[in-house]
Amino acid sequence: EVKTQGRDGYCFYAPEMSQRTAASQRIENVLRHALAHNELLLQYQPKVDAKLGHIVGAEALLRLHVNGEEVFTPDQFIPVAEDTGLIVSIGTWALREACLQARSWQRDGHPIAISVNVSPLQFQYAGFYERLDAILNETGLDPRLLELELTERTMMSGGDGTIRLLRRIRQRGVRLSLDDFGTGYNSLSYLKHFPVDALKIERAFVRDITQDAETAAITRAIIGMARSLNKDVIAEGVETEVQSAFLRDAGCSHMQGFLFGAPMPAEKFEERLVVTDD
Ligand code: C2E
Ligand code: MG
Ligand code: MG
Ligand code: MG
Repeated sequence: EVKTQGRDGYCFYAPEMSQRTAASQRIENVLRHALAHNELLLQYQPKVDAKLGHIVGAEALLRLHVNGEEVFTPDQFIPVAEDTGLIVSIGTWALREACLQARSWQRDGHPIAISVNVSPLQFQYAGFYERLDAILNETGLDPRLLELELTERTMMSGGDGTIRLLRRIRQRGVRLSLDDFGTGYNSLSYLKHFPVDALKIERAFVRDITQDAETAAITRAIIGMARSLNKDVIAEGVETEVQSAFLRDAGCSHMQGFLFGAPMPAEKFEERLVVTDD
């Protein structure tokens, strides 16, 4: 922990703070440059139907490349983007870019759903709905092909208006999914109170299902409960056939993970899409 709460409520900063600040300062500079020079990019990871195995959607994931090299991973630069407020413009860019891409795939005969991650700051920012609506109008994407991935942290940030906002988004036709499900403190109550269409089982569960009987039992229970609430369940981070078979048998409707494809550039993703003649 970097920050410690002093006895009188003051914050003391540990020596490593200045180092961390230097690192995040550098990330911030790279981010600002990337944003100004159109150097951010999205990669797309397949979401497949658990039974049929075909691609039904893609999750758009941000990448920060400088001269073709990945300089920082999302786990490094997203927190900095959140701390500096840059996530609002970056998130808006990602949303528009993902909608444009999905619209283009739709035009080419591949009406696949696109999922976009939304950060807390972005979600709580006044005008989130208006921006979303404008992007849908501007890109002409069928809203039913868009899904927003929200974490508990994101939901929490919305305050009192959250449920109303979520309802408005869904009324616009956009799907909502609860990302990293099971890692937060209140996963179950979130599922009960918030109008979401799907939940994504956190990778940490999927990783352990074949090694740990308790994790297997919990995962099975989550899937069963979600299904009885009429939600789609997608497992993330599926890497092996054994995991995939377990999840399919447990009733998971969709899967995502290296077994089916890592995040990839749009052109690569297109090669995976089968042309249907209608
Ligand atoms: P997430 O939304 O939970 O995304 C899933 C992460 O798991 C991605 O990491 C993905 O590449 C990785 N992953 C997928 N399948 C596997 C697998 O089989 N094994 C393993 N080990 N990993 C797998 P990535 O792309 O590094 O993104 C990390 C996080 O950064 C995301 O977690 C999300 O919270 C955030 N993020 C990424 N793009 C955006 C964005 O456009 N906006 C916002 N707000 N956050 C984003
Ligand atoms: Mg996600
Ligand atoms: Mg996730
Ligand atoms: Mg995550």
